[in-house]
Amino acid sequence: MSSMKRVDGFRAGWGVCAVSMGCVLGALAPVARADGRATDAYLDETRARWEQVARQIWDTPELGLNETRSAAALVEVLEKEGFQVTRGIGGEATAFVATVGTGAPVVALLAEYDALPGLSQAAGQPKKQVVAEGSPGHGCGHNLLGTASVAAAIAANRERIARKLPGTIQLFGTPAEEIGFGKTFMIRAGAFKKTDVVLSWHPDDQTRVTNRTRLAATSVNVEFFGRAAHAAASPWLGRSAFDALVLFDHAISLMREHIKPTARMHRLMRDGGSAPNIIADHALGEYWLRDATGESVNEMLGRLKKAAEGAGLATETRAKVSLVFSLREPVPNDALNAVVQRELDRVGPPRFDDADQHFAKAMQKELGFEEVGLATKVMPYTQHNGGTASSDIGEVSAAVPLAELNVATRPLGTAAHHWAQTACAAHPLGYKGMGVAAKVLAASAIDVITEPALIKSAHDELVVQTKGKPYVSPLPPDAKPVAPTASH
Ligand SMILES: [Zn+2]
Repeated sequence: MSSMKRVDGFRAGWGVCAVSMGCVLGALAPVARADGRATDAYLDETRARWEQVARQIWDTPELGLNETRSAAALVEVLEKEGFQVTRGIGGEATAFVATVGTGAPVVALLAEYDALPGLSQAAGQPKKQVVAEGSPGHGCGHNLLGTASVAAAIAANRERIARKLPGTIQLFGTPAEEIGFGKTFMIRAGAFKKTDVVLSWHPDDQTRVTNRTRLAATSVNVEFFGRAAHAAASPWLGRSAFDALVLFDHAISLMREHIKPTARMHRLMRDGGSAPNIIADHALGEYWLRDATGESVNEMLGRLKKAAEGAGLATETRAKVSLVFSLREPVPNDALNAVVQRELDRVGPPRFDDADQHFAKAMQKELGFEEVGLATKVMPYTQHNGGTASSDIGEVSAAVPLAELNVATRPLGTAAHHWAQTACAAHPLGYKGMGVAAKVLAASAIDVITEPALIKSAHDELVVQTKGKPYVSPLPPDAKPVAPTASH
């Protein structure tokens, strides 16, 4: 997600717990493997169609909560396949859920489709080449993400019908991942209430089932309200909201020495007044707090609020702290991850050709990275391979058992939130990664439908991980989804 997330390059922990996962996989071994292959064949036959959809979304990059055309492109495909679509969930017009089938089990896939600001880049170019200065781009590959999930849901549904299988398939269109909260509002609106398990994926530079220990994160707007005055004629009449924000920011800077090494704090000034010769009556900064657990983030948030009150007191202004988003650390689910790992091992990594590798090495050379090309292997499953990114997928994982797959869609060592991913998200190598993701997710969905014991294992694990506590939304009751650009 977000400028906060998908900071790749954190690869700690590989090889730590492969043994325990081996046991989980061993328990799954007797299940027939043929289940996924009809979905593979369908996805191979229809490959050109999915590449066209992914390119269409790539060509019209839209920021969070404004993904009108991107969501419509996916909805159109789903409706043609008989999915019933409900648009607008949790106050988010570009959120939707597409449902097909009846009864239990209910298997869901997640489609993201938002782009990032300022990451416009020419398709398939190994060098930075902006198409439209300052325009958004698919620098996180969500055009591939959303399309593969939709393709997987359709492939699984065709298989469900052909084999007269029970159950329901849901495809959640989840907007505004990059601005931190799309799914959180959908959960609060009850969208996932009937869902048994969630299968997801994200473009990456590696191919693996991920069990990342992403950071919990909370974002707040800190505002100060003062009194305007002519800065030269009558400054004594004014009370500067900008002064308050500067003082508050200094307090936060001092606080950095007294937070845990795992914590992160970021900030941006959104409003500091309109002119130097007018005492600012309003100032606004956006502050992000992150740490390994939501508890630690909440503790830091309490201190941040005191600093805001203190700055307001010192400057005779009024402070207001409003939550923008809050994401907990993901709840890992080995039982469900094992299902996806089994299908990933069967499908195998993307089959990149010489042209793909040549392109990848040219891009690595351009970036000053080691010219090692693209990942050609499936990484072994390990636990707690962590990073310092965050995602609203963490909220979903605390409400419903969730598995997440990564598939290589960019050269090794390159990161998301970069023009390199924008370029690769409209290149044959990106489409190959998308194809693998769709096959693995479709087959995993059929596995879950045909093996109800897998759902019970996944649920049992969620109960253990969450100590049986029901999901509670981090959002205050009056919180509404508002894009940052629209709120300031
Ligand atoms: Zn992303």
